[in-house]
This record gives sequence, structure tokens and C-alpha cells, in this order.
Amino acid sequence: MEIKAIRGFNDILPQEIGKWHFVEDTARDVFENFGFSELRIPVIERTDLFARGIGEATDIVEKEMYTFTDKGGNSLTLRPEATASMARAYLEHQMYSFDPVAKVYFMGPMFRYERPQKGRYRQFYQIDAEVFGVDNPMVDAEVIVMLMHFLHKVGLQTLELQINSLGCRECRPRYREELKRFFEKKSFQLCEDCQRRLQTNPLRILDCKVEGCKESIANAPRVTDFICSNCKEHFSRVKEYLTVAGVQFDVNPNMVRGLDYYTRTCFEVVSYDLGSQNAVTGGGRYDNLFQEIGGLDIPGIGFAIGMERLVSLLPKDRTFLKTPHLFIATLGDETNKEAYQLANELHLRGIRAELDYEGKSLKSQMRRAGKLNASYVLILGGDELKQGKAVLRNMGDKSQEEVPIKDLASLLQSKLPRL
Ligand code: ATP
Ligand code: MG
Repeated sequence: MEIKAIRGFNDILPQEIGKWHFVEDTARDVFENFGFSELRIPVIERTDLFARGIGEATDIVEKEMYTFTDKGGNSLTLRPEATASMARAYLEHQMYSFDPVAKVYFMGPMFRYERPQKGRYRQFYQIDAEVFGVDNPMVDAEVIVMLMHFLHKVGLQTLELQINSLGCRECRPRYREELKRFFEKKSFQLCEDCQRRLQTNPLRILDCKVEGCKESIANAPRVTDFICSNCKEHFSRVKEYLTVAGVQFDVNPNMVRGLDYYTRTCFEVVSYDLGSQNAVTGGGRYDNLFQEIGGLDIPGIGFAIGMERLVSLLPKDRTFLKTPHLFIATLGDETNKEAYQLANELHLRGIRAELDYEGKSLKSQMRRAGKLNASYVLILGGDELKQGKAVLRNMGDKSQEEVPIKDLASLLQSKLPRL
């Protein structure tokens, strides 16, 4: 029987990878300009890190983790997100002793046992950025400005930034109680999951996508009416800094985000082109996370972008495929060695040259050059070759000229603008 990939686990094929590289390169570029450095984390961590860091009463920890026991009897989990691991690394390596402020980013696959569907997979990629050690609202705004700048730079246009404040450990419990009282009165309208959330984590009800629940949610008490004066002040400064930076936003008082550790600022960027899975990215402040994982009292803020959803939104009119600059076609077997040497030389000079390995006819070589979308074809052979020349065909306008082979690399470099 043919072995296939596991459901929810995707291959990213060469025709697609150009988009991924473009997104990843742009992220590195933008983030590093904002002072961020890459922090690479392991794929597997102790289960406790996620259970405590993300929170027991979250979808991820309740039902989405890939957890297993290793041969030493340790409970381990494939990372479902990056923030908890990044925070662990910051503590473990005492990065704060060098500088309390750490700006870090990471890109890589995450694993969640969810029902696979369009835009939702079991292995999916995230781009993640975090700032540890600052609670100044200026940083909240800076992180959001960076995110929006990045999304615009990769070409997304129909985006809406939604922000909210979730309060802190002082004022959140009061809101939680209020919310619980409100939903208890309507509990018969809530879905099964929300009935449970009512006991474990009533805030998560606000995030429910089930129609019946959505109706009750519409009239629920709003967190922004309950947050303390410090949180109000923090939130209004965030909004002020965003406005100063020219970033538009909407306040969505029902946005709570899926993870337990968020405090104060949270945000989501929604795209209108994606159907039901319309959140491309989400993030927020998490001033309790470090204490949960057994560390110091350190504030943090960050976001995670879903790569698959982002890639699916890239402008359709752009091509991200790296096609050959040149296809070397040969006339007869005796020119194979020249073709081979020439290709090697061009590769070393940064020119993407492709050639025929199968002794095919000129016609079928030309067909292959067309299929590969080569910009030029060099036809090597015959009398020209004896004089150190070959015919160079421009596959765009179909013009042909005879060129000295020794000048080919520099000639191509001048003809291909992006080299
Ligand atoms: P959702 O509400 O869509 O489940 P989430 O709140 O679980 O999202 P986060 O944990 O904040 O998502 O992850 C940030 C981003 O990662 C999401 O906005 C989304 O783009 C992407 N993402 C999350 N889960 C998946 C998945 N299973 N497959 C693909 N992308 C995902
Ligand atoms: Mg989710």
C-alpha cells in the first residue's frame, strides 16, 4: 500500500515555496529593523510548560496537544505555540541579566490536534515575535505597528486591526464574576463547550463561534467597563501611540483571544478574503505568564501569525517562483561537456542555468525550457560553437542573437535586471 502523509500534515511543494521564502525573508527584514533577533526553540518541551503557561482551561491544553510519554517516562508535548517556550528560554538563559528588554522572534511549525479543514491543520507554521521585560504601552503599540507594517509589506490590503484590553490580575477577576453571573442566567442557550467554560473560564465564551452562543454574547457585559484605572490608562496610551503612528484600529470589546495568559492589550488582525478562518494573526500582553511557569514577575507582549493563512492571502498577480535564467540546449551529444561546464560556471556566478540530461531533440529541449519558464535559451552547437559562439534566444520576445560564450555571464547579468 502506498504510504501517504498524515491528515492535517502538509507538504509545501517547490511551486509554492517561493511565497513562503518571500514571507519569511520579509519578516526577518522588518523584525530586525525593529531591533528583534531570532531565538530558536525546540520542537518538544515538557508538557508542564504548556499546561501551566497556556492554561489548563484553554482549547489547546484541554484537547489540542500532541502529548506522549518518552522512553524515560517523561510527559512531553510537541509545541502548540511558541510564546511559552520563548519565555522559558529567556528565563533559563537569564537573558534579562544582559538586558532586561529582549525582543525576539521565531518561525517554525506548531502542532495542534484540531479537526483539519481549510486554513486549519495539525501541523501549521507560525511567525512569532515577543518583547519581554517592558510593560510600557509604547511597546504594545510598537509591536502592533511592526506587525501591520509587515502585513502591508507582504502585500495584504483588506485588513482590519481589532484591539481590546483584558484587564490585569487586579481587575479581571471582578469582570470574570460579572460575566459568569450574566451567562449563568442564559446557560440554557449555551453550547456544551460553553456550559463547561462557564465553570472553568467564562471569558472563553466570548470567543465561541456557535450561533446560539453568539446571540447571548452580543449583550454580555464589556470588559472595558470593568477594567481598573491603571488598565484604562494603559489602554488609552496604547491607542494614542497607535494613532500617532498612523495605524488604524477598531476596539472590539468581545475579543478575548484563545490563550489564558493574556492581560491588558490583546489584538487580532482579520482579513476579509479568507472565508471562515479569518484571523491571520493574534497576540497580546501576558504579564502573568512568567510567574505561571515558575519564573520572575516579568511582563511580555507578542503575536503569532499563521503562515498558511497569510500565504493564501498573498497578491495573486505576483509570481514568487524562481525560474531558470537560462536553459542550455545542446545540438548533438558532443556538446554535452561544454554545456555541463558552462552550467557549472554560471551557477558559481549566481545565474540559474538549467540543461538537458537526457539527449533529447532540440525541439523537446525547447519545450522543456518553455515549461520551466526559462528567461533565455542558449543553443549550443554547430559551427558557432567552433568559433566560441552560440545563439541566445530571448523567450519573452523570441528575438535571437549570436553571442560569444565567454561573455555570456556578464551579458546575462546586464540583461536580467534583478541579478
Ligand atoms: P483560531 O481561533 O483560528 O483557532 P487561535 O486563537 O487558536 O486561532 P493562536 O493560537 O492565536 O490562534 O495562533 C495565531 C495564528 O495562528 C492564528 O491567527 C492562525 O492564523 C494560526 N493558526 C492557529 N491554529 C491554526 C491551525 N490549526 N492551522 C493553521 N493555522 C492556525
Ligand atoms: Mg485555535
